[in-house]
Amino acid sequence: MDLGIRGKRALVTASSKGLGYGCAAALAEAGVDLVLNARTAEPLEAAAQTLRAAHGVEVTAVAGDIVDDAVRARVLDAAGTVDILVTNAGGPPPGMWTDWEREDFIKALDANMLTPIALMKALVPGMVERRWGRVVNITSQSVKAPIPVLGLSNSARAGLTGYVAGTARQVAKSGVTINNLLPGSHATARRDALDKGIAERQGISLEAATQSVWKEIPAGRYGRVEEFGATCAFLCSQFAGFIVGQNILLDGGNVNATI
Ligand code: NAP
Repeated sequence: MDLGIRGKRALVTASSKGLGYGCAAALAEAGVDLVLNARTAEPLEAAAQTLRAAHGVEVTAVAGDIVDDAVRARVLDAAGTVDILVTNAGGPPPGMWTDWEREDFIKALDANMLTPIALMKALVPGMVERRWGRVVNITSQSVKAPIPVLGLSNSARAGLTGYVAGTARQVAKSGVTINNLLPGSHATARRDALDKGIAERQGISLEAATQSVWKEIPAGRYGRVEEFGATCAFLCSQFAGFIVGQNILLDGGNVNATI
């Protein structure tokens, strides 16, 4: 299927691996030129080179922490005129509700609410002016069904979701859509780390830990970054212009809800 976005330009933050990379790869396959970002330069450049070689698109890599104001300014400078924005950053650490102090909340809000908002504030006005744009924010299934040990994530992502709900409706008339993708458990480095933690805490093998998580997912497996990326690319396509302010769950049926 031709998504009708060949030749457009996208910024995908936190995209050297995992879900961000999946989105970047699917956009590259659709013929979109890219600006990629991650903190560690070497894997970022390797990801950029893989996508250039596979899809013949232009890929610019800007290394640095997207939460840092100066880095974000450099990324935006390199990005220039952008038609598509996919926001992503690492998630906050787990813990107990009694552990978290103001500073912990500020860090989580900075990474998972205020950084995507700053990126949208920088890039959506240009999209509105040009009367076409797509924004996809990678959030989490925890927006629909809280994960108690991820209280910092639950809080920050709920804030972003509220902002998007109103803003998406303010810019829709200009041909700009803003939506959120809510990943459930996907096979990424972050998921590997979580499974290793389960294995260590319970004194079981890594495989047994993974199987114990799969048992809770109706699809009986983790999501694949390729599936996630393809959904992202569709939301960025010419065909998704009527999808506005939605929160789309990719969780293998894990959230047990009728709607
Ligand atoms: P991942 O495999 O660990 O990949 C994270 C990517 O983001 C890497 O490229 C990493 O590179 C980059 N990154 C992280 N923090 C960054 C920052 N501050 N600035 C710039 N780049 C940054 O993670 P993932 O599984 O794809 O998760 C992506 C997001 O989805 C996270 O917010 C996570 O909480 C959320 N999520 C994931 C799942 C899941 O099952 N995978 C489920 C629900 C929600 P560097 O380390 O080099 O910066």
